[in-house]
Amino acid sequence: MPAALVTGSSRGIGRAIAEQFARDGYDVAVNYVRSAERAKAVAESIAAETDADAVAVQADVGDADDAADLVDEAVEAFGGLDHVVNNAGIDQHVYTDDLSPADFDRVMDTNVNGAFNVTKAALAHLRESDDDPSASVTNVSSILAYTGAPIECHYAASKAGLLGLTKSHAADFAPKVRVNAVAPGHVETDMTADRSDEEKREEMAKIPVGQFGQPEDIADAVAYLRDAGFVTGETLNVNGGELMR
Ligand code: NAP
Repeated sequence: MPAALVTGSSRGIGRAIAEQFARDGYDVAVNYVRSAERAKAVAESIAAETDADAVAVQADVGDADDAADLVDEAVEAFGGLDHVVNNAGIDQHVYTDDLSPADFDRVMDTNVNGAFNVTKAALAHLRESDDDPSASVTNVSSILAYTGAPIECHYAASKAGLLGLTKSHAADFAPKVRVNAVAPGHVETDMTADRSDEEKREEMAKIPVGQFGQPEDIADAVAYLRDAGFVTGETLNVNGGELMR
């Protein structure tokens, strides 16, 4: 069975992506940084409910050594690696006046360096893949890559950085490995759970389909990109029409 590594898949969007890969016939490495119990529960439910195997692997993707160990553990568990989804991400709401260089680096380390670290560690294995149509990397960016955001400049910069990484790696790794991005709008997860009712009403008013996204909406988009053999270097925008490009 081919195999996938989904970073940050203990909960939220990453969990839905990992579960979708398993339903589609992929063994899955479920990565987490702190939520050991939740990640183990995801791996156990995948093993119980699908034909796929799953392992939970702790790693801080922003640390290059951790990222290399993460890839090694996935390859050891499954005998190879065919797809990587760089989903792990953190956010922080703070105006630039109050944003410390250390916090700026922390967000960039996880969101951009993490994708670079994991992709670099996985590349040799992805190049050996014979999955059909090909191996792939999918980077989870954000609508904020295009719009920016006053209280999260580091987050927006990290997500814009991922789009540059995506196109560069798509050119670099062709033809063997396709590299794409998905850019979600507002998705209901822990990351967006702290919004007040007033903030939610304001955000909802900007979304033409009249609903927030669910993790499964993003998992569907990632599965499409995995299977789309003629698509590389592309970003799939999944935002309910909030930003029409
Ligand atoms: P979430 O519910 O907060 O989950 C974040 C996941 O990332 C968790 O599994 C967490 O692991 C993991 N993680 C955080 N730092 C990590 C690190 N250094 N190393 C490894 N794993 C790490 O977030 P989400 O809403 O599902 O977001 C998933 C991705 O979608 C993120 O990249 C986010 O920026 C992006 N996105 C989200 C939205 C949205 O509206 N929710 C919109 C656009 C883009 P632990 O459980 O161990 O902490």
